[in-house]
Amino acid sequence: MDVFETKKYIEKQGLPSFRLRQIKTAYFREGKTSWQQVQNLPRQLRHELEQNLSWFSIKALELQQTPDHSVVKALLELSAPGGRESIESVLLRHKNHYTACVSCQVGCPVGCVFCATGRERFRRNLSAEEIVDQIVFWNNYLRSHRSGHAACRARVGNVVFMGMGEPFLNWESVSEALEIIMQRDCLGISARRISISSCGLIEKIKELAADRRQINLAISLHSALEQTRQRLIPLAKSQSLDSLLAACLEYVQKSGRKLFFEHAFFAGINDGDYEVERLIWWLKQHYLFHLNIIPYNPVSCSDLAGSSPRRIKEIIEILRRERIPHTLRRSFGRRIEAACGQLRRRREVSATQARLRK
Ligand code: SF4
Repeated sequence: MDVFETKKYIEKQGLPSFRLRQIKTAYFREGKTSWQQVQNLPRQLRHELEQNLSWFSIKALELQQTPDHSVVKALLELSAPGGRESIESVLLRHKNHYTACVSCQVGCPVGCVFCATGRERFRRNLSAEEIVDQIVFWNNYLRSHRSGHAACRARVGNVVFMGMGEPFLNWESVSEALEIIMQRDCLGISARRISISSCGLIEKIKELAADRRQINLAISLHSALEQTRQRLIPLAKSQSLDSLLAACLEYVQKSGRKLFFEHAFFAGINDGDYEVERLIWWLKQHYLFHLNIIPYNPVSCSDLAGSSPRRIKEIIEILRRERIPHTLRRSFGRRIEAACGQLRRRREVSATQARLRK
């Protein structure tokens, strides 16, 4: 549901403001799945709203989950006119806490060589509604899969923009979505529980440094050496590591918040001694810099191989010795094609093959 459009509609029709509250409650808290289910609205109004505004902008095409149900991945179809597109969205459970990993674009213009989404053509930006609906989708999923007392209250409590797309390249929709995600009468998730993951667009990092909302920021670093980073993240060619570092320092100084750097290690590419030395140098530039080591899930469209567990262990040992704050992230799991864009890519390849066979 587009909250802003619905608000405009209610105001334009001269309806009392409590109608919007009723709609928000039905949508965000009660998991109603259509306008017709909002029984406290007059029948005529329900009908009019149905004719003029969409209730849900996405629908599930496919779901995959790990055997322990700690990761569920959804391929979601967008219902906006102008050609059916699909995106991926992931729900992660840690104890009784749930995190939604959302997409913000169909395809991605950044073109990271290790990412299935980056290997695809950029199609379009998502609207704020399509971003927010991914979280509502997961809340509804939890509601319909409830079992046991704790799970009855289960809701998404954290949001990470780490799915398909570069959030800073669709900042207008992402900002609008953030408002709805944080609003108490919508999803009510606090800024500190929201993380934006970006390949690091300088101007936007500076903008976020001045933002009072205290949203977490994670930069995909993957190498502190210019050439290697540009090889892994083609869009990085348009900005130097020096300017990125300057923006990162400005961010921590202005915001006083930790800045996370995402780093996957690839055998023979960015896991050599000199690479690790430069990485340590980079991370020592500020005590608020924190390294997140991302286990690499291989994708079929790339011939990159993740570093061996032994090498990762060695690197972690060096980080410990050098007293660098770091976290080894959980792997999403290979069994559910968890790398970003993989599920969508597999489905597209099958569809193309089917078309060719005809
Ligand atoms: Fe885009 Fe993120 Fe994939 Fe890079 S890793 S291509 S930024 S979706």
